[in-house]
Formats: sequence, C-alpha cells, structure tokens
Amino acid sequence: PESKLPTLGTTIFTQMSALATQHNAINLSQGFPDFSGPAYLQERLAFHVSQGANQYAPMIGVLPLREAIVDKTAARYDHRPDVNSDVTVTSGATEALYAAITALVRTGDEVICFDPSYDSYAPAVELAGGVLKRIALQPPGFRVDWAAFRHLLSEKTRLVILNTPHNPSATVWQRSDFDALWQAIAAQEIYVLSDEVYEHICFDARGHASVLAHADLRQRAVAVSSFGKTFHMTGWKVGYCIAPAAISAEIRKVHQYLTFSVNTPAQLALADMLRAEPEHYRQLPAFYQARRDRLTQALANSRFSVLPCEGTYFLLVDYSAISDLDDVSFCQWMTREAGVATIPLSVFCAEPFPHKLIRLCFAKQEATLDAAAERLCQL
Ligand code: PMP
Ligand code: GLN
Repeated sequence: PESKLPTLGTTIFTQMSALATQHNAINLSQGFPDFSGPAYLQERLAFHVSQGANQYAPMIGVLPLREAIVDKTAARYDHRPDVNSDVTVTSGATEALYAAITALVRTGDEVICFDPSYDSYAPAVELAGGVLKRIALQPPGFRVDWAAFRHLLSEKTRLVILNTPHNPSATVWQRSDFDALWQAIAAQEIYVLSDEVYEHICFDARGHASVLAHADLRQRAVAVSSFGKTFHMTGWKVGYCIAPAAISAEIRKVHQYLTFSVNTPAQLALADMLRAEPEHYRQLPAFYQARRDRLTQALANSRFSVLPCEGTYFLLVDYSAISDLDDVSFCQWMTREAGVATIPLSVFCAEPFPHKLIRLCFAKQEATLDAAAERLCQL
C-alpha cells in the first residue's frame, strides 16, 4: 500500500536494542531498567489475578487507581482533578500521547514541539493531519528561546507539546518556563500536551514543576505520566492522562476505540502500590541520582565529556574528543567495537544536529554501569 508515513522507519530504540543483542553489547540505549520493580507490586499483581480480576476494566480505568492518582496529584501539585471526568488510565504514556494528539489536532492545525523531541509525537501529529513546527533547543542548556517560540505562533497554532523532565536532554523545566508559555499562548485557544513521564526523577533537590500546578495552564492542558518509569516496570505499560472534563471527553472518544481499556490486574496492583508505598516516590530521586553520579564519576577517566543532568535516567555525553563520525554511525560503531549500545541525539531532531552527543541510560544495576564505564574508558 502507499505509505501514510513514507519516511518513517523502525524506532531507534528497537534498532539499537536489536544491535546490542546482535553484538552481545551492554545495552544503555533503550530506556528501561535491568532490574525489576518492587516485590510488593509483583505480589499484588499475582493476588489480583488469583482473585479473578481478569476481565475488562472500565474504559476510563479502575476506580481505586484513579482515586490514588487523584490523591497523589493533589498532594504534589496543589490540584485535585475530578476522579470521574478528568483522569483516564491508558496503555502507557504512549497511548495517552497518541489519543490526546488524535483528539485535539485537526487537519491543517499547527503543533509546536521542542527539538530534540521524543520520537512518538511527530508521527501522531502527521497522521492527524497536523503540521509540526519545531523549535531547536541548543546544548548544553537546551533552554527555550521564548522570543523564537512567540515567532512561531500563528492563528493556526492548536497545540504545544512539551516534555519535562526532558528525554533526551535530561533538563527540567522551572515554574518560570510554564509562566512564559502561558504568557505566550493565553490570548489564543491553544492546548498544551505536557509529557511528564519522568515527573518523579528530578535531581539535586530540584522539584518537578508540573503543568498541573499552573492554575491557568491546566485549564487547557493534558498532563501525561507513566508508571513504567516510576516503578521500574516499563513492560507493564500502564500510564494515564489528566485533563479538564471537556478535553478528557474528547481523548476518551479516541481511547475507547484505540485500546478500550487497560490490563485490569496491573491497574489494581498499582492502586495498592500507590496507597501502600508513598516512600517509593520519595526515594526515587536519590536512587537514580546515585546512579547518575556513579556513571559520571566513572566517565571522568574517559575522553567523553558529560553534560549536566537535572532529571530522567539519561546522561548525555559528548564524544568529539574520540571520533569524527556522525552520531548514528558512532553509536553503531561503539556497539560493535566497544560493546556498549547508546542512542544518538540527532534522531530526535528534524534539522541537522551538528553536535556529537549520545544518550546513555543509567537505569541499570551498578555492576552494569561499572562494566559499561570500563569499556567506555578504553576509547
Ligand atoms: N514519553 C517519554 C518522554 C518517554 O521517554 C517514554 C518512554 N520511555 C514515553 C513517553 C512512553 O512511555 P510508556 O512506556 O509508558 O508508553
Ligand atoms: N522511552 C524509551 C526511551 O526513551 C523507549 C520506549 C520505546 O522503546 N518505545 O528509551
């Protein structure tokens, strides 16, 4: 058939993980932990399966999970979404993003995103008939130039997609960024899709400034999160979105025919986990900060130079002292020759990205990080 996405190939995550397996390399490419989530969560899953919670969940998610999400949101972001009309449980953040974009973007609408941007946004915008306008953020700070942002706005602008903490740059938006965004879009009917899947992984005592904490912006915003990141269970694929009732109603029209509902026992297990273990959230930044610091220190003896990392479980490193190869070729070469798989940054950008930066996932056991660093120090 004639392709609706002719230029699109397989995702870089699939490619690099396959290459890592092929060459038996240490896989710091695709973002997933090489350890499992809490034993309690696993026990609760088995419990709910054994109790017969094995049929379809309600389309919008099971009530105990939606209640726990509401309480968690209220405790952190000073906003209590309505448990029935505002919260929708989805099959990972990926589905929430796709459903929100499909629901909000009409043919010819313009959508603004910030490059480097997570790879699932652009195809969804394209399939919805939208036109993506990308603002290139510059390393090492990757801060938004708000004058450039305003310049890109037009009467066709419908949606702004942002991601904080940011994959892949590992930067974190401040409240002032959200204020600047609001000032820029307040006068127009523009919606905001805020991808906050790493909301609980912010470092150096930096808090997460959610779009939900902004009383003006949240009237027009969809906040997306995922339990995969928070509980080290990326394979469970349970996420959610929070949006005002009128926006949620449109997203649910898509969700009900995209997946209809999400894995029942996993939702119930997550609801138990959220209730029983708020400690997990509190410990998560320190847990990942220790890994960030371990990898950073180990790479101090290498020819890579490490960029600042404010959040997420990704570390950017510059390899210009090691090679002149472009980043895609360098990542392939390094997987084959050094036995460490990573992710090139240019794949997240539409414009040519002239920097020599690659992304290392540090959601790994200490032994994995040490072994990878030892190999990287040889280069
Ligand atoms: N957004 C970002 C920025 C991500 O990094 C990821 C996955 N790592 C997702 C969305 C998708 O999350 P999920 O696995 O819950 O679909
Ligand atoms: N979000 C993960 C990453 O950035 C990958 C998820 C996926 O493979 N779709 O590495």
